[in-house]
Amino acid sequence: MKAVVVNPASNGVVVVEQDKPTIGHGEALVKVEYCGVCHTDLHVAHGDFGQVPGRILGHEGIGIVEEVGPGVTTLVPGDRVSIAWFFEGCGHCEYCTTGRETLCREVKNAGYSVDGGMSQYAKVTADYAVKVPEGLDPAQASSITCAGVTTYKALKEADLRPGQTVVIFGAGGLGNLAVQYAKKVFNAQVVAVDINQDKLDLAKEVGADITINGREVDDVAGAIQAQTGGAHAAVVTAVSKVAFNQAIDSVRAGGTVVAVGLPSEYMDLSIVRTVLDGIRVVGSLVGTRKDLEEAFAFGAQGLVVPVVETCPVDTAPQIFDDMENGRIQGRKVLDFTAE
Ligand SMILES: [Zn+2]
Ligand SMILES: [Zn+2]
Repeated sequence: MKAVVVNPASNGVVVVEQDKPTIGHGEALVKVEYCGVCHTDLHVAHGDFGQVPGRILGHEGIGIVEEVGPGVTTLVPGDRVSIAWFFEGCGHCEYCTTGRETLCREVKNAGYSVDGGMSQYAKVTADYAVKVPEGLDPAQASSITCAGVTTYKALKEADLRPGQTVVIFGAGGLGNLAVQYAKKVFNAQVVAVDINQDKLDLAKEVGADITINGREVDDVAGAIQAQTGGAHAAVVTAVSKVAFNQAIDSVRAGGTVVAVGLPSEYMDLSIVRTVLDGIRVVGSLVGTRKDLEEAFAFGAQGLVVPVVETCPVDTAPQIFDDMENGRIQGRKVLDFTAE
């Protein structure tokens, strides 16, 4: 089978021929249809989280169960399932037993600590593979497996009530989905902030009520305070310290700032403001199996529509190269149905 693996020689990826995985107790073999390419895959290929030469990449995989191993009761052949970053938890720790399984200290991550979805066949732990509902396009589902569930979970962490105001910092792939979930699922008033007008225009098309271009507005937080009275929450998908600081200043007293983007910097946080105004700052990482099930369901209802572009598997090295050089627009999804 064809697989996209970390190339130890180049810091990039290479498409190779490999044997189909064999499955054991509790596992299922999935014939992959689509797998999205994410910035996290680039970090894995670079060894930013530790060297994993030869690892099959991909945590935005969608495919059809072809075979199940002994002991599997939750999947049957023919089910469409996901291969997500949260691949498996230990199942018995403090986090796994309290609805916070993505924080499990023994977590396995697809396409990093175990082989992922960028291959014609992938092995999953049956109890952890979330089913994709009928009516959801599998290429679009691949994007919900990562960007969709990440933003949906972040909005849950923001604890929004209908009609409240949320600011989405960064209107790229993650931010665009955040706008859609915020508007269509949480029924919020949505402000989108970016420095790229094309992305803001797209955010407006999918439901943003107010857009603010950080290149044109000097005081972004002040503008948000003036137009909304201060947001109830902010979700920061931008990979920029500036956006994090603006987020703190744009929420009202009692507001919540949810950190999703991963700039390798520290944010400034006024202790006085945080205490006197009761500001909450929380980090949010992907989502649990239940979060993904919910995120899929809203996609299947047509409320959230990821923008994806399918590409031949053999173009993977080029896509990674383009991503590295900032030449990617939108979400690229490797098409394994053509293999
Ligand atoms: Zn991803
Ligand atoms: Zn655990």
